[in-house]
Amino acid sequence: MQGDTATLTRTVNVILLGPPGAGKGTQAELLVKNHGLVQLSTGDMLREAKASGSELGQRVAQVMERGELVTDDIVIGLIKEKLSNTDAKGFIFDGFPRTLAQADALGQLLEEFDIKLDAAIELKVDDKILVQRILHRAAQAKAAGQPVRADDNEETLVQRLEAYHAQTAPLIAYYEGKGVLKSVDAMGAIDAIAKELSAIVS
Ligand code: ADP
Repeated sequence: MQGDTATLTRTVNVILLGPPGAGKGTQAELLVKNHGLVQLSTGDMLREAKASGSELGQRVAQVMERGELVTDDIVIGLIKEKLSNTDAKGFIFDGFPRTLAQADALGQLLEEFDIKLDAAIELKVDDKILVQRILHRAAQAKAAGQPVRADDNEETLVQRLEAYHAQTAPLIAYYEGKGVLKSVDAMGAIDAIAKELSAIVS
């Protein structure tokens, strides 16, 4: 089969890189649905920890609400646990790595688990539309009676974007240097972007 529902003949492992609101979560879900990959989202894991009221959740809640990054050790630990527990067709790393130290740690983990990184996919979006996108997402959730993410407000978003540019954007050059960077224009329609990503993983 070809196209969106193509069955993969071998495991595929990709990183989704991009600022908050770039659509990493949305595209990761589509890759899960269409290609059977397993999504590893550190943001989701941290929000679950927070919702469960665990000690870890309590430790990260305020950092997340400020829009800052939680410490590398915490997220590296979460990812390691998932890699050791899952028997997957491949992984989508969504929101991880977010610092150079996390990228180095991921490289070591992948070696340890004998997993090959096929691509780091950069979702390119102008900062200007990110604020609008996220405030729109928050308003939609609210209108539908769904919970709104505690960090989906203008003030925290400015901090999240700052953290992205200072700590995460350098990963673009890092993965370019490793010869695995793919850049996708993520300003357009969800379907069109999903097609491009499907082509990359196929
Ligand atoms: P987004 O990409 O929309 O900003 P995420 O759901 O990926 O959102 O992350 C939400 C928050 O969780 C981040 O602002 C940060 O506080 C924390 N977080 C998630 N992943 C990481 C990570 N790899 N390293 C450090 N902090 C992280």
